[in-house]
Amino acid sequence: MPNSFDLSLTPGFRERLKMATSRTRSWLARRSALRAALDCLPQGIVLLDRDGRYVHWNPRYAEIYKGSADLFAVGRRLEDTLRAGVARGHYPEAIGREGEWLAGRMAAIRNPAGQTEQQLADGRWILIDERQTRDGGYVGIRVDITERKKRETSFRILFDDNPVPMVVLKSETDAVLAANRMAIDVFGDPAGHLIGVSLADLSADDADTELIAPDGAVVEHRFRDRAGTVLEMQVYARPHVFEGEDAILVALFDVTERNRAKAEAAYLAHHDPLTGLANRAYLHLRLRERLGRDQCEPTAVLLVDLDHFKAVNDTLGHHAGDHLLQEVARRLVSALGPGDFAARLGGDEFVIVTRFDHLRALRATIDALLDRLHEPLFLDGSDVCPQASVGIAIGPADGAEPDLLLRNADLALYRAKAEGRGTYRFFEAEMDDTLRRRRALELELRAALETGDLTVHYQPLVDLASGTVTSLEALVRWHHPERGAIPPSDFIPLAEETNLIGRVGEHVLRQACRDAVAWPGHIRVAVNLSPLQFRSGTLFATVDRILAETGLHPARLELEITEALLLERTEQVLSTLHALRALGVRIAMDDFGTGYSSLSYLRSFPFDKIKIDQSFIRDLALDKEAVAIVRAIIHLGSSLGMKVTAEGIEDPSAAAILSESGCHEGQGYHFSRPRPQSDVLGLLAADGAARAIRAPLGA
Ligand code: C2E
Ligand code: MG
Ligand code: MG
Repeated sequence: MPNSFDLSLTPGFRERLKMATSRTRSWLARRSALRAALDCLPQGIVLLDRDGRYVHWNPRYAEIYKGSADLFAVGRRLEDTLRAGVARGHYPEAIGREGEWLAGRMAAIRNPAGQTEQQLADGRWILIDERQTRDGGYVGIRVDITERKKRETSFRILFDDNPVPMVVLKSETDAVLAANRMAIDVFGDPAGHLIGVSLADLSADDADTELIAPDGAVVEHRFRDRAGTVLEMQVYARPHVFEGEDAILVALFDVTERNRAKAEAAYLAHHDPLTGLANRAYLHLRLRERLGRDQCEPTAVLLVDLDHFKAVNDTLGHHAGDHLLQEVARRLVSALGPGDFAARLGGDEFVIVTRFDHLRALRATIDALLDRLHEPLFLDGSDVCPQASVGIAIGPADGAEPDLLLRNADLALYRAKAEGRGTYRFFEAEMDDTLRRRRALELELRAALETGDLTVHYQPLVDLASGTVTSLEALVRWHHPERGAIPPSDFIPLAEETNLIGRVGEHVLRQACRDAVAWPGHIRVAVNLSPLQFRSGTLFATVDRILAETGLHPARLELEITEALLLERTEQVLSTLHALRALGVRIAMDDFGTGYSSLSYLRSFPFDKIKIDQSFIRDLALDKEAVAIVRAIIHLGSSLGMKVTAEGIEDPSAAAILSESGCHEGQGYHFSRPRPQSDVLGLLAADGAARAIRAPLGA
């Protein structure tokens, strides 16, 4: 029996001991490595045993709870630490219900259920993530989420009080997770419920369009509010983490009103407010679009211009004029076929753009249109018969560009107006040059009326017996800025064709009366009238008004008319002439002898004066027959009690023959050329020095 304790180990045991020792060493090494790793983590970590006693915690844990090491001493019960914390008011949510809180907390530690949040007395928020370990212990992770909580709080404030309806949608289902007050106001059910509803449920359209653009772009949709009203809204969507979940934050911006205002502005920019038709800009746009199509069908541009619209405006007033334009617009629209459209260019100019298959069909359309336009209408108490002229250009043949097409339609219109009005003309290439030039001239004449490029010169009429000036004839002059002086024989007919004669005539009459007021009282002024000025029906009123305006005595005004006027010999012409005479104005017949039945005209009206046309005077010294005719006219005039004047006296011999033949007055370069008003007073002063007849005035 061994008497001493045998310390010698069997080799097997020694081997096992060595292994156990090395296992213990490596376990210790692993444990300290693990602890070192835990100590480095940014999260707070705490380990408890199954009895709820501290096993380990890392520095971050202590830092989060700002506890001293003894508070968390290994072996100490967590419950005691919590109790101490509750007593010191570390957990605001525990205040007032300390026992209950502690019990709840301990239950959670015994039976941990994932994540909770906890607020500390200093305001910080801690996320608690807790789990049970396999041996019934506890591992808890603590994260300071104060910053995130702050962000969430400010988001909530922004979200809840935002005046724009906002919702948070669950990423996968698009169901509403949260809705702000405004969204509930607008879309919520009567109970203010909106959670769980999908955005598509709020849409006003059935179409399954994506309500949220995948690339984050802003899209516009129509939604229906709780009252059923359709709202146009822009959808702004952004990814958002909501209470830890992936979500989408959606703001719905109401643009209904803005869209309506935009649409209204666009309408106003494109339409004529008086008639509601497209305006010039919109016409260009649509016409360009029509002409730009690959397979552009023949498109007719009908330029419609009312005849004598100004007369309606002048006699019935602008109110009636506006009504007429509106009625014309209605009539044009009623004549439109599918795809056609009408526009108003301004004033009394309208355009219809229409497609057609055959020229015959187009003509029928235009005939019907004119018939419709020419139907009489009752306008502010008067019957009015509207009349229109139409110029037609066909695209793309007559122009592939709106501008060219409209210009060519304008040339055709010009022709229609010149050839009798109330009718239509198609554009023809030959119209181009002459017409274009005349058209340009017309536009320039219109401008000249505004700019004062139309002036009046005066040519004296001399008493052949005494050699003194009796009157001066007003002759209009156009100083064109580029072309220089344009003679009245060139532009008076143009003014007559284009309805501008009324304005030209009024301008000359006013200027002549104004100028004559400055002359000696016994000198008259003679003003030429165009037959067309009688047609407007306002001539008498115009003369009367201008006399009153300028203060010229009516007896000092002489109006020269031509035989062309008496060709018409209507009641209206004669009554106007009589009315003017009754006013005290003198009436002279100009260019006598050039008409077909000059003599018979002398019976139709008691003229104060006849002016023998210069074609009889020119060769008086050489042409015996001319002398005979002139003498006969002088005799005839005298016996009818009319003064006789000879025009175009260029040389002293003609003046002598006329004087000897008993002609009362003479006019011509022999005495003076037409002169500007600035020369007239000097001319009259020289005349006042009682110059002899044969000494030409201002030679
Ligand atoms: P008119 O009324 O017969 O005027 C006389 C024209 O003969 C004027 O031409 C005048 O300059 C011209 N003349 C005068 N003396 C002589 C002369 O010795 N020899 C020649 N060769 N010519 C002479 P003007 O100014 O070129 O006017 C031409 C016509 O234009 C006028 O003929 C008149 O019919 C018309 N006219 C002129 N001013 C006006 C106007 O204000 N209104 C209207 N409606 N017509 C006007
Ligand atoms: Mg004259
Ligand atoms: Mg004449």
